[in-house]
Amino acid sequence: MEIIQSMEEKKQGKLIIISGPSGAGKGTICAELMRLMPDLVLSCSVTTRAPRPTERRDRSYFFVSEDTFLDMVRKNELLEYDQHFENYYGTPKKFVVDMLNFGKDVILEIDVKGALQVKQNYQDSILFFIEAPSEQALYERLKKRGSESEEKIQIRMARNKLELAQRYKYDYCIMNDDVDRAVAEIIEILKERRNK
Ligand code: 5GP
Repeated sequence: MEIIQSMEEKKQGKLIIISGPSGAGKGTICAELMRLMPDLVLSCSVTTRAPRPTERRDRSYFFVSEDTFLDMVRKNELLEYDQHFENYYGTPKKFVVDMLNFGKDVILEIDVKGALQVKQNYQDSILFFIEAPSEQALYERLKKRGSESEEKIQIRMARNKLELAQRYKYDYCIMNDDVDRAVAEIIEILKERRNK
């Protein structure tokens, strides 16, 4: 029995990437996925951005100084990273690699540039592009969040257009006009992909 167990090939986990425009509802979708599929693992990114009042340290993000971030880049501790909205954002590598080796599927909630970087290195990853029903809906969601000035919202809206133009590079585009439906659609796809 022991011999058979040790000869069994250990299944590697998959990377599930949730990305798309700022304000498209990626965070809500990830939270719902985690609630409904508790065997998934959510990666926590590291950022140089200041925490928002509603955010929790080491849960929403690992909030670090620019020096610390750049040191992590130098030490090759990030799976991917990008600089946008005047801040750095990156995915700590060790946690993700350990989880994948452990057979866990890991969710990354990252921007388009980061998603495409990851896909290059992990071709097996599953990329979801989350779309908001309209530009107006995106704007209203960012405004409602109340964490950015009008000027910063406009910067995010401009970047959103660039991100939207890249959605054809994704495995799946999910319209987030209804969170429950969008999440159900993702879960259906994940179940199918797991069975392959
Ligand atoms: P926010 O400042 O609204 O939390 O995030 C801004 C953007 O950064 C979002 O599109 C978010 O998905 C992206 N982001 C968050 N974490 C990471 C990361 O680790 N890597 C990359 N490339 N983008 C990230």
